[in-house]
Amino acid sequence: MGIPKNGTFLQNVERMVAKTVRYLDLPPGWAEEIQAPDTTIKVQFPVQMDDDTWKTFTGWRCTHSEHRLPAKGGIRYASIVNEDEVEALAALMTYKCALVNVPYGGSKGGLRINPREHSVGELERITRRFAQALINKGFIGPSDNVPAPDMGTGEREMAWIVDTYQTLKPEDINYLGCVTGKPVDMGGVRGRTEATGRGVMYVIREFFRNVDDVARTGLTGTVAGKKIVVQGLGNVGYHAAKFLAEDDAKIIAVLEWDGAIVNEDGIDIDDLRQWIDVHGGVTGYPYGTYHLESRKLLTYPCDILVPAALEGQITVENAADIQARLVVEAANGPITYEADRILNERGIMVIPDFYANAGGVTVSYFEWIKNLSHIRFGRMQRRLDEFRAAAIVEAIESATGKEIEAKLKHHIMQGSDELSMVRSGLDDTMREAYQEIKETFNEHNDIVDFRTAALVVAMQKIANTHKRIGL
Ligand code: GLU
Repeated sequence: MGIPKNGTFLQNVERMVAKTVRYLDLPPGWAEEIQAPDTTIKVQFPVQMDDDTWKTFTGWRCTHSEHRLPAKGGIRYASIVNEDEVEALAALMTYKCALVNVPYGGSKGGLRINPREHSVGELERITRRFAQALINKGFIGPSDNVPAPDMGTGEREMAWIVDTYQTLKPEDINYLGCVTGKPVDMGGVRGRTEATGRGVMYVIREFFRNVDDVARTGLTGTVAGKKIVVQGLGNVGYHAAKFLAEDDAKIIAVLEWDGAIVNEDGIDIDDLRQWIDVHGGVTGYPYGTYHLESRKLLTYPCDILVPAALEGQITVENAADIQARLVVEAANGPITYEADRILNERGIMVIPDFYANAGGVTVSYFEWIKNLSHIRFGRMQRRLDEFRAAAIVEAIESATGKEIEAKLKHHIMQGSDELSMVRSGLDDTMREAYQEIKETFNEHNDIVDFRTAALVVAMQKIANTHKRIGL
């Protein structure tokens, strides 16, 4: 088969690391150790199908780094999953967690399966069997390795995994922390489902707050009125598009597996998503122009391009034709190494995946903390906050003799509930990481892109941990 023209996913990640190493003060050999995946297991297991036949499935889980534990990262269900991809994704998790100060190592899992080809009953048996294999090999547990949703999986699969874990390890009082992205009534945290998409929106808001960065791209103002093209209306793409539209951006094109919809007046994202849920794809959607060759639309004129589907979408074949001024990688690895170089040369700013989509793991971290502390965020202080705020309002009103306007009073007197705390923590995390990247970017005249700057920040933090504890 040979190496694909744009290199394998893992090779692309490794080339990115190789480019970054010269900016770091690392002892000889450390960069190799940091970038090498620690352990990858492959499991094969049989499951009985609805028609009583047996089918064997293949899955992987890679722990890329254990410099911090647990190792963290999603489990992906797709027919194209392979070991190289899982290792590349696990590496990205290591850099992602370090960058946004989420104290985990990196991991990722994948199961080679097309979920659409199976009944819910089959998916449950397959998921439980896969989870069992990983638990028995020490690749799932609240203190060593904590999966989460990824492409093709969601809270339903996470519920099956936590239940399987509890059955196998009834003595583990922290069993809820063995996986994140669970339904809220099974130990999940409010705001996790939409966290990655919301994080993308916070990143774009933060970008527009930094006028010098905005000026470099040739854009002006805020996200309001900007023309945005989104590839993929899965969990991440849908929520990113929805929240950006709520910020008055115009989603002018949505690219899906069966075609693309273009509408210069802006697409109603909820309406299109409902159409996809009913019809399986965008084909036939009446409010826009349909294009069969969806990937070609990556080069459609727009201000911001948000690839939120698969890896390897912007390659040497189409990078020269991208017309966006800003590309925000909501998916993992959508731009190949060479394509990234071309975009940089063309002055197109890229906000890299391991920063842009870190909102998911950030809120996973909050969920895990909730699970270990066995209490919902805000439960102890929400009413106390409200009580104190009410007393302050009362004091101000009696001192001034004036009544505070009802809407403002309501706002001041609202205690923090779990959802508002999760959103605040996510916003803070994304904004802080942006500033860390920017600082490194500004410190080095020869760093021309945010990806390299972000990786310098992440690898330096990993190296600092190793300096304290050894390799
Ligand atoms: N699968 C998501 C990612 O790629 C989330 C991982 C997690 O929450 O652990 O970042």
